[in-house]
Amino acid sequence: LSLSGDRIRQTFLTFYADKGHRILPSASLVPEDPTVLLTIAGMLPFKPIFLGQRPAPSPRATTSQKCIRTNDIENVGRTQRHHTFFEMLGNFSFGDYFKKEAITWAWELSTVVFQLPADRLVISVFRDDDEAFALWRDHIGVPEHRIIAMGEADNFWASGPTGPCGPCSEIYYDFHPELGDAVLDLEDDRRFIEFYNLVFMQYNRDAEGHLTPLAAQNIDTGLGLERMAQILQAKPNNYETDLIFPIIETAATLAGLDYGSADAKTKISLKVIGDHVRAVVHLIADGVMASNLGRGYVLRRLIRRVVRHGRLLGLDRPFTVAVAEAAIALMAETYPNLRERDAAIKSELEREEVRFLETLERGEKLLGDLIQQAQASGSSQLGGVDAFTLYDTFGFPLELTQEIAEEVGLTVDVAGFEAEMEQQKERGRAAHETIDLTVQGSLDQLAEQVQPTVFLGYGDSESSASLV
Ligand code: ATP
Ligand code: MG
Ligand code: MG
Ligand code: MG
Repeated sequence: LSLSGDRIRQTFLTFYADKGHRILPSASLVPEDPTVLLTIAGMLPFKPIFLGQRPAPSPRATTSQKCIRTNDIENVGRTQRHHTFFEMLGNFSFGDYFKKEAITWAWELSTVVFQLPADRLVISVFRDDDEAFALWRDHIGVPEHRIIAMGEADNFWASGPTGPCGPCSEIYYDFHPELGDAVLDLEDDRRFIEFYNLVFMQYNRDAEGHLTPLAAQNIDTGLGLERMAQILQAKPNNYETDLIFPIIETAATLAGLDYGSADAKTKISLKVIGDHVRAVVHLIADGVMASNLGRGYVLRRLIRRVVRHGRLLGLDRPFTVAVAEAAIALMAETYPNLRERDAAIKSELEREEVRFLETLERGEKLLGDLIQQAQASGSSQLGGVDAFTLYDTFGFPLELTQEIAEEVGLTVDVAGFEAEMEQQKERGRAAHETIDLTVQGSLDQLAEQVQPTVFLGYGDSESSASLV
């Protein structure tokens, strides 16, 4: 069954509407909750309901939620399944139905509506969740060996150190069933893709860490729209689905490239541009402006990465507005605020791009000076510290510095560069380390961790081009 991305979204929402769920619109990427940086999951707008701070609008709800996960930024273009911006389809029960219905419907949606063959699906459950295990095995009929027990890190979700929490269960799709069932390693992402996560919020955790059953048991789920599109459209990755590929093609055309025959590195750059431009247009549409703080910094970093990857493709004049136009055209029917904010999106992008291009030009001048100095002193190498300054302050990736140096017969002290990079990472590690924006991660902790990370060391307005 091949469905467009729009049809998949509509099909999901209609399926759950037919099961008594109220269809609610996507909330903004900027959460109401001031302690949270960006909307990272479909459940975030409902967090006050799950915490009992607000009444539910209806016992059951379903949404397609715009999400941004900056923790996946390094994965963009490199894995087949990760984006910064993506849409999470979800069905929610606020003290209404629980595990049995959630599992039954997720299975029906996957195998009957989307027609995924049952023998291509593998299930993960939390190690101690005998109830979920039994439901999958006895009620659904999944063979026991295809239900994989996982530990707390992967399959237990908590909204904070205390409060509502519970086990989760995920559905994976198998791209290579011919490899057989002897080894089912869900971490092997050439073979498996996680597409649906069912969270069973059934406990309250107190300050001593004790779990007590909640009076109201909740369901929170997330299904990645782009991942389902990849599966149903039989594409090798999310990027080549109809949800993103037209944007990539626009960028390729602007650069005079053909995606199909491009090499791996070029494809990564095109995917990064396709991904980040989606994130950027939605962030600006939701009111975020580029800055060196918080969300504004996320936006700035994304725009700079787009520009940088554009340059890797030979696009050295402003091009982001043209790519943004393609993104807006592709998504405006679903998200009309993109059209309403069209002018703001373009002017913000243009301003940021020009500023960054100026920074890059200054970097080019510095590099020229450094080359002259090296040549004058008879050295055949550029220093690692200098290469790092170019990278960190002027947004020059190491490869670019190397390329330019090579043109005049110089090498770059790569070990020295990496030592500097390592030192910088060390400095940022305390803040970065535990950021896991998965729903398993604590959202409360997340808020505490993300803020200091983003505020860290970006005081000087231009020396913030930490682009990787
Ligand atoms: P993964 O293990 O693949 O990184 P996850 O376990 O972090 O995914 P969840 O937090 O469980 O993801 O989110 C629910 C669903 O949202 C996932 O099953 C997936 O379909 C989708 N999803 C999560 N992160 C991304 C992303 N970065 N890009 C696209 N889809 C995503
Ligand atoms: Mg996962
Ligand atoms: Mg998951
Ligand atoms: Mg993840």
